[in-house]
Amino acid sequence: MKTIGLIGGMSWESTITYYQIINEYVKNKLGGLHSAKILLYSVDFAEIEECQSSGNWDKSAQILGEAARSLEKGGADFIVICTNTMHKVVPQISTYVNIPILHIADATADELEKNGIDNVALLGTKYTMTQDFYKERLTARGINVMVPEGNDIETVNDVIYKELCLGIINDESREKYRKIIQKMKDKGAKGVILGCTEIGLLIKQRDSVLPVFDTTIIHGQTAAKKSIE
Ligand code: GLU
Repeated sequence: MKTIGLIGGMSWESTITYYQIINEYVKNKLGGLHSAKILLYSVDFAEIEECQSSGNWDKSAQILGEAARSLEKGGADFIVICTNTMHKVVPQISTYVNIPILHIADATADELEKNGIDNVALLGTKYTMTQDFYKERLTARGINVMVPEGNDIETVNDVIYKELCLGIINDESREKYRKIIQKMKDKGAKGVILGCTEIGLLIKQRDSVLPVFDTTIIHGQTAAKKSIE
């Protein structure tokens, strides 16, 4: 079995889900007392968020690059970064290690392809929704990506940083997300990517008129599968 190197803590609320999903997958496949081999480097999210909001992405890349290097030294066979947003600095992080980084957008694109979805709504942080680093990975695979418009961008982003990353699950926010997903469906989306690793804490398939692609589940299961291949 390969050892998975998780870079978590962004936020820790969603890192818990990764740990659970990976172990459940390995247990289901191998049975008995089997569980996943995992190293976790959990960062202080306040430091990372400060880099994001001040635009100091180089500093965040250094923090995560050094975390990745520690995981490699500790024996990790590949790296899983437990956030969509910080995949923005994957090109820099990859210069710190000789082991592969399992990209969350690639795993998601595989899943969309498997389900024949070529027009998809993307919900995530404002960085993930409005910048290119994530969307371009999907469009390169022939998948059209739609994001919310106007105030909806701020609404989706605020719920992530002011509630979900603090462990607050709010019915009113769920309702706001439901309405935004409905709007994206009306505009032609065939599925919705929960492109932030905390959104799955708020939105389940039953809350969405579109088929849900939860990046935490997809990324976690892809990592688990790779570890026992
Ligand atoms: N976990 C979130 C994501 O998947 C947001 C936190 C972060 O900015 O890393 O993008």
